[in-house]
Amino acid sequence: MYFIMKISKELQKHYQLLLDVNSPWQIYDVNVDVEKKQIEIFINWTQGEKVLCPESNKECTIKDHREERTWRHLDTMQFSTYIKCRVPQSNCDEHGPKTIDVPWSDPERRFTLLFEKFAIDVLLACTSIKAAKNLLGKCISDFLIDGISDKYLSLRISSRNAFILRDSRV
Ligand SMILES: [Zn+2]
Repeated sequence: MYFIMKISKELQKHYQLLLDVNSPWQIYDVNVDVEKKQIEIFINWTQGEKVLCPESNKECTIKDHREERTWRHLDTMQFSTYIKCRVPQSNCDEHGPKTIDVPWSDPERRFTLLFEKFAIDVLLACTSIKAAKNLLGKCISDFLIDGISDKYLSLRISSRNAFILRDSRV
């Protein structure tokens, strides 16, 4: 069963509070796929609101929007949860079009900051990739591919747990 919830103002507020997403970001739709046990939360930037150039922090209009991207977020109960957004690009006189920052992650990454923090904690607590995979699902493979190239993650995943990384091509 797959349906698009026509979200009420109340539900919108509920998700905004849970995700800590503030105006002009807004949650405009939520898809619930009961069979896949999956929730998609759609976020956009309120039309007509100015954006900040990520280089100069200067207020500017929107030049365009990036193609829709998906970030894996923490589960909602037993449902895998994803954030979807077409991130706006600023129209700075000085720097040209730049993808603006998003509060839940880096625009180029595939996981939200909260998911990354959780995944690192799981990796550090587990004795094998297989055990981590049982808790995090198969997306752990993508997480490790992204994570290993990241200095912060490499530091967090200490030498004590280096054996996990040796087995990371799962
Ligand atoms: Zn600028």
